[in-house]
Amino acid sequence: MTVVAIDGPAGSGKSSVSKQVARRLGFGFLDTGAAYRALAWHALEHGIDTSDSTSVLDVMGDFEYAISLDPDAFHVRVGATDVTEAIRESRVTDAVSGVARVPAVRQYVNSLFRSVVTSSGRPGVVIEGRDITTVVAPDAPVRILLTAAPEVRAARRSAELTTEDAAAVADALHRRDASDSAVVDFLTAAPGVEVVDSSHLDFDQTVDAVLGVIRSILPASDPVQTGGRHGR
Ligand code: C5P
Repeated sequence: MTVVAIDGPAGSGKSSVSKQVARRLGFGFLDTGAAYRALAWHALEHGIDTSDSTSVLDVMGDFEYAISLDPDAFHVRVGATDVTEAIRESRVTDAVSGVARVPAVRQYVNSLFRSVVTSSGRPGVVIEGRDITTVVAPDAPVRILLTAAPEVRAARRSAELTTEDAAAVADALHRRDASDSAVVDFLTAAPGVEVVDSSHLDFDQTVDAVLGVIRSILPASDPVQTGGRHGR
């Protein structure tokens, strides 16, 4: 099992790029932000204020979460409810940092990630998030930080959220960056982590740049057969 760990801030292209890289390698794809979003959704369904960590921990008790690793059939469920779309709503995005800053939440979702990846039966998994290169899979053979200039990230996000005001989207993104980076430093590369800056790259160029890093580390002939230094 080969793990490719990709971290980066919102709007860096991390999710869509990681998904495409997973397709190209025949790997699974794990969006770790989706777990934090699903828990934030679950807390909001229970009418919980997500800035109150005790209440968040209370509702974590009956949080039943399922995620697919298939880059072509991606879905996220909480209990029987498909929340794939709902977790992208801005009410969830606004609430998610509150959930993600609770240490017990992070430990819990990290153990979920490890068991999902271990039991995936796939030759490899691209895992993307904020702390994958440092906490979730620090011994992955390939670790990448995908960055982009803040104004580029804000412009990409507002192009995705066409119904929302561009300035409000940029504001929300910078606020979320600020609260998230108080918990995990995802703006600086840890030692040994390769940086890919997508500020001046389009989607395909970013995918190629990430694949280039992977191929420079794992032999081009068959990346799947190598790099399995760990059992996650
Ligand atoms: O990547 P995405 O924007 O979907 O992440 C949603 C939120 O989940 C982030 O704003 C952050 O609070 C949290 N997160 C995290 N650690 C990760 C992935 C996401 O704290 N590995």
